[in-house]
Amino acid sequence: MSDLSIEKIDVFQVDLPYAGGVYTLSGGREYRSFDATIVRITASDGTEGWGESTPFGTTYVAAHAAGVRAGIAEIAPHLLGRDPRRVDRIIDTMEQGLVGHLHAKTALDVACWDVFGKSVGMPVCDLLGGRTGVKMPVISSIYMGDPDDMRRRVAEHRAQGYVGHSVKIGGDPAEDAERIAASLADKRPGEYFIVDANGGMLPETALRMLRLLPDGLDFVLEAPCATWRECVSLRRRTNVPIIFDELAQSDSSIIQLIADDACEGIGLKISKNGGLTNGRRHRDICLAAGYTVSVQETTGSDIAFAAIVHLGQTVPERSLRCLLECRDMVTIKTADGAFDVVDGRVTAPAKPGLGITPRLDVLGDPVATYQR
Ligand SMILES: [Mg+2]
Repeated sequence: MSDLSIEKIDVFQVDLPYAGGVYTLSGGREYRSFDATIVRITASDGTEGWGESTPFGTTYVAAHAAGVRAGIAEIAPHLLGRDPRRVDRIIDTMEQGLVGHLHAKTALDVACWDVFGKSVGMPVCDLLGGRTGVKMPVISSIYMGDPDDMRRRVAEHRAQGYVGHSVKIGGDPAEDAERIAASLADKRPGEYFIVDANGGMLPETALRMLRLLPDGLDFVLEAPCATWRECVSLRRRTNVPIIFDELAQSDSSIIQLIADDACEGIGLKISKNGGLTNGRRHRDICLAAGYTVSVQETTGSDIAFAAIVHLGQTVPERSLRCLLECRDMVTIKTADGAFDVVDGRVTAPAKPGLGITPRLDVLGDPVATYQR
């Protein structure tokens, strides 16, 4: 194996306006724009690798955009001179430079995988274990609102080919029950619904809401409550399948889910979990546990979506629920590549690495550069 080392790390910042105006989540949270950090790693042979980390504002999980860039400033000097293809050792090195702050490590980790793929002429999905060939369904993200309006927005996405919908709730039990009933009112065979409270309910309000629903609605309930205890308590008293998302963000939390028999699946968000190296392991733990996996991001643009697609492409069909089409949430395109969604489904491109070409004019000048 010939030598390859990280010579330079450039950091770019891009504001990604939300495509729908204002995005509302439980607890009165509102989002209008997302602050993206994009990284370019240049290796000693000139190969460039790209990665992105875009937190969902400052009030979603313990991650924020300024923290991504501050974290990279701590980590980047440690990575210079390291071999980007030794991805697990890259994780060790990042951990030695900064404990935790997984979202800050994601863009660097994904950029290393991009270099790795280009260096051996293979797509990232094949390095992650091999493509399944599954045409992967993308899922819509239906923000919390008036029930009739939510029904209309589900219909709009259905018309665009979406077969999966993530319906946001998390306020009043009666209103949430109406939101769910309205969103599922026109459900077609084969459609998949995640009802996502983003941790906004208490066990009491969640139990009341579930009692108010008509029988026979086919959905999974994601992230009902903010804490582990509340989610597990609720889970013991309902037969609705439970999905963990925000609380499933580390090796230990995913193992604890299994030990507690706490859910049926997870939302695997790449930046929440620290990138593709950790995501690959979380995928494998979930598959071993018989969980379903929805491969997602907190949000992001084309580079974040490329990482989602490559990891998703390695999950066997019966275990793969959906991918989040994060590009649909923002108005700015940061890269080009063969990631077209056709009839609501997408496959990973065959080009080496992530298979993207960044739009340098959109990225502008680096906000920081670290080099040997
Ligand atoms: Mg979620």
